[in-house]
Amino acid sequence: MILECPICDATITVNNPKEGAVVVCEECDTEFELVQFDDEWDLLEVGEEDWEEDEDF
Ligand SMILES: [Zn+2]
Repeated sequence: MILECPICDATITVNNPKEGAVVVCEECDTEFELVQFDDEWDLLEVGEEDWEEDEDF
């Protein structure tokens, strides 16, 4: 599976995606948590406490 880093748009390859797994962008060194919405995977930046109130995704 290939995802795009929401910070720097680099490609992040995830071989064995699991809900809640942490992946690191090699370009910007940001940690993300894998989350699944229906059949789509998304990346949540680790440490963003107020993410639920951010509707701009
Ligand atoms: Zn990045």
